[in-house]
Amino acid sequence: ANFTELGLISPLLARLTELEYQQPTPIQAQVIPSVLAGRDLIAGANTGSGKTAAFALPMLQHLFLQQHLSSKSSKGNYVTRLILVPTRELAKQVADSIKSYAVHFNGAIKTVAVFGGVSANTQMLALRGGTDILVATPGRLLDLISSNAIKLDRVKTLVLDEADRMLSLGFTDELSALLGLLPKNKQTLLFSATFPEQVQTLTQELLNDPVEIQL
Ligand code: AMP
Repeated sequence: ANFTELGLISPLLARLTELEYQQPTPIQAQVIPSVLAGRDLIAGANTGSGKTAAFALPMLQHLFLQQHLSSKSSKGNYVTRLILVPTRELAKQVADSIKSYAVHFNGAIKTVAVFGGVSANTQMLALRGGTDILVATPGRLLDLISSNAIKLDRVKTLVLDEADRMLSLGFTDELSALLGLLPKNKQTLLFSATFPEQVQTLTQELLNDPVEIQL
């Protein structure tokens, strides 16, 4: 299948042409239609597989189509799409990719990355007035929640990227705390290179009738 057949809309297709993405990677071919259909999903995916676009493109499409239907309801420091990642490098990289995929939405979608190791002040300012897509490492996100800089109770989609690394880096407690702050009713997408017991437990607790993708 090509990107059009996967159901993506023209502002995204135009961008993929510019980026010279000629056809979907195997993981994109499987993930994009499931995410567009609103399903929960668990996917085995390494870096280099194209997993970022696999979750980012359908997420951007949902946001864009919703903004056409309703006026922006994001007064206050809310976020509706949350991507949790294990490291600051990955946080920056994922946010940069999302911003690049969204260029033809003409600034309609606000993406912010937050991570530790730098001052929280700039990040707090960036979150003011609401955020469409937040890419975050768990520890800094919890700090920002404690400071009332961001609220998670309107999250509609949660992505756990590199879930195995997140758990092996010792984010288990932070992750439990964050998951407890999220609404029950949401779409959850979990990506992991490996599936140790901790990841399987997380999957069982978090995912609702997920599509399972193993390449
Ligand atoms: P990722 O696995 O998400 O880190 O992506 C790995 C690299 O592949 C990134 O540099 C992407 O820009 C690139 N990429 C992702 N999807 C495609 C595609 N369908 N065609 C060509 N390159 C792609």
